[in-house]
Amino acid sequence: MIARSAGVVRLPAKFLMVLAANPCPCGRHTLLGDGCECPSSVIRRYQARLSGPLLDRVDLKVEVEAVTRSELAGYGTRGESTRTVADRVRAARERAAARLSGTGWRTNSEVPGHTLRTRWPAAPGALDAAELDLERGFLTARGLDRVLRVAWTVADLAGHDRPSAQDVALALQLRTGISRGVPMVIEPIGVPG
Ligand SMILES: [Zn+2]
Repeated sequence: MIARSAGVVRLPAKFLMVLAANPCPCGRHTLLGDGCECPSSVIRRYQARLSGPLLDRVDLKVEVEAVTRSELAGYGTRGESTRTVADRVRAARERAAARLSGTGWRTNSEVPGHTLRTRWPAAPGALDAAELDLERGFLTARGLDRVLRVAWTVADLAGHDRPSAQDVALALQLRTGISRGVPMVIEPIGVPG
């Protein structure tokens, strides 16, 4: 709903927002710091151009490494096929839809935070680390709800009945972009290899 002096306009707004940004003005800054000579004050100012309230609405932050020459040439493409990944996503979405059947919602993203917390809580103690982050001010209340929502999707992908501490840790890691020592891979239950 956009309200301006000329009137109020209501627009359909169900969308998925994907943002991409360089880490610094030269674009070569990594956590290891190689190849970039931007002063740290310049990097901080550059990254501060994305406002906190905007970033608070981003659930998944992933640092993407530069493509190597051999990858560009097509060597070593041992990643999964789109079909394999699509099958896994479909199974996870069906799991969520089955859990939410009769509610009018089909995906974890649609469930309001309060309902999610009270009706579909994580495993006992699984949210401890996230709640500690909230107390320390590293996470907002909105952020905590969003972490739980992503943790449910992680659990659905892994085939867990509800989010474990590990699932929540992965959701926190994806939200903050800061490693919690959890591998960025979800191993589905009962799938060999
Ligand atoms: Zn740089």
